[in-house]
Parts: sequence; C-alpha cells; structure tokens
Amino acid sequence: MFDNLSDKLDNALHVLKGHGQITEVNVAETLKEVRRALVEADVNYKIAKEFTSTVKEKALGQDVLTALKPGQLMVKLVKDELTQLMGGEVEEIDLSGNPSVILMSGLQGSGKTTFSGKLANFLKTKKNKNPLLVACDIYRPAAINQLQIVGEQIGVEVFSDVGNQDPVAISKAAIAHAKQNGFNVVIIDTAGRLAIDEAMMTEIQNIHTAVKPEETLFVVDSMTGQDAVNTAKAFNDRLNFDGVILTKLDGDTRGGAAISIKSVVNKPIKFIGTGEKMDAIDVFYPSRMADRILG
Ligand code: GDP
Repeated sequence: MFDNLSDKLDNALHVLKGHGQITEVNVAETLKEVRRALVEADVNYKIAKEFTSTVKEKALGQDVLTALKPGQLMVKLVKDELTQLMGGEVEEIDLSGNPSVILMSGLQGSGKTTFSGKLANFLKTKKNKNPLLVACDIYRPAAINQLQIVGEQIGVEVFSDVGNQDPVAISKAAIAHAKQNGFNVVIIDTAGRLAIDEAMMTEIQNIHTAVKPEETLFVVDSMTGQDAVNTAKAFNDRLNFDGVILTKLDGDTRGGAAISIKSVVNKPIKFIGTGEKMDAIDVFYPSRMADRILG
C-alpha cells in the first residue's frame, strides 16, 4: 500500500535526517519534496500546498532548527499533520437505531456490494449484531444474485423482491421485515451507475428521505485517484453522507484519495477495503494510516 509515496517521502525526509546542520533552507527544500511526493500521489495541489505550509509554520514555531534531533522532529510534525488531514480521530458508525439503517451509495464497480457483505460480517462477528442485507438494485438481477451469494458466504439473510421496480418500497418493506424478525441493523445496497447521473441521484435521494438512515456511507474505489475526490463531492452535495468507505487499498493505489478526501468533503473515512474476501475490512485509523504512508 502506497509504496511509491512512502519511498518518496522517505527520500525527502532522509535528506533532512542526514544533515548535520539543519537550516531554514533545507527545511524548505524538504517540504518542497514532500509536497511534490503528495501531488504525485494524486493529492490535490492546493491541499498539498496548505499541508506543507502548516508543517513549515509548526516547524519554525517549535524551533526545529535548534532541536536536539531536528530530523526526527520534522518526521513527527509531518506524521501529525498527515493524521490531522485524514481526520484525526477514529469515527465509528452510528448503531443507535432499532434497527439501525445503513444506506450504501457510490458508483457501480466501487465495491458497494462487496463492502455491504464485509460490513454485515464485521457487525455480526465483531459487534454481536444481527444484520439484514437488502438488495435494492432494481436494474441488474445479477447484482441481487451477487448479494445473495455474499449473504450465503457470511450466513446473513438477504432481503430482496425480484421484479419490484420501486427501491423505496423495497427498503421500507425490508425495515418492516427487520423489525418483525429481530434484525437490529439493516444494510441497504443500492444501484450504482458507471457515471453520476440525475436518475441515480434522485433515486438514492428518495430512498434516503424515505428511510432516514442512521448512516449514509459513500463507497469509493481508491484507485480512481482525483476522480474519487470529485465523485465524493458530487454525492456529498446531494446526500450529505456521514462517512466514506475507501475500497481497493490493497491494489496499486497512489494514496491521494485517502489523504485528501476528508479535507474536500469534510466527512471522515470510516472503513477501508483491502481485498475481495469478506474479512478484508479495516476500521480506518488516521494515525495508523499516516504511519503506513511514512513507512
Ligand atoms: P459495486 O458495483 O459497487 O457493488 O461493486 P462490487 O462490490 O461488485 O465490486 C466490484 C469489483 O471490485 C469486484 O470484482 C470486487 O471483488 C472488487 N472489490 C471490491 N472491494 C475490493 C477491495 O477492497 N479490494 C479489491 N482488490 N477488490 C475489491
């Protein structure tokens, strides 16, 4: 994960660590390298620039030039700032409802169905919950099958109504079914399109208004780089979602989405997907991610 970025940041900071004498000039040079590494990893230029000026301000404010171990202090400042940029604290999902309704949104192929299964499995095995999965893709029968296969794998019931063309009605019926049968979490997997379109946005907004979910999660493929951030913005403008799920972090992602999404939409990343299997899910810890990025 983020090998390229980690190597580049390591190189940038290495120069500083190796210097006997640390001057304002090589702090500035180092931060320029850090900025370049971030931009190459698909972090938006403005965010990368703000990031390095904040680190610089803090470095000068903390007398980094006269510190005992200036290189280490710089690494710490970069790490702390990276953690802040990714949200600072861990943000849990809201499970206070009875049942708690979790609405999944995102483009087709982002990993929504896979993540719905992973989340159900996580809640069942780690949080002692009794989740119900709901297939709300009325356009692709294959998507309903896919969710059913996932449900079988993890031993979680899947609610579907093949032929029903009204996702709002399916969602409401699923919640009623959950109430009657003791399910305390309802995860609604919605239809996605390959690109954002008005019909999809209206449909998911209608479901959102009708079921008033405790959590609306936006699922995005981290491999899509800057596009991930743009898509997040478009969905957030319409749904005002509660959290982001970054999938495919096991792939050859450059890391830009993980770093910049929080500052663009001001919503926390809550989980990450790290593989195709049902247990390839992790709670997102900003400081652990910063550790990984800095190698
Ligand atoms: P949906 O259209 O949004 O429901 O997306 P799917 O859940 O069908 O996922 C699309 C593809 O991405 C499938 O082949 C999944 O196996 C794969 N996928 C989903 N999440 C991950 C992940 O975290 N890592 C990897 N490597 N593949 C993933």
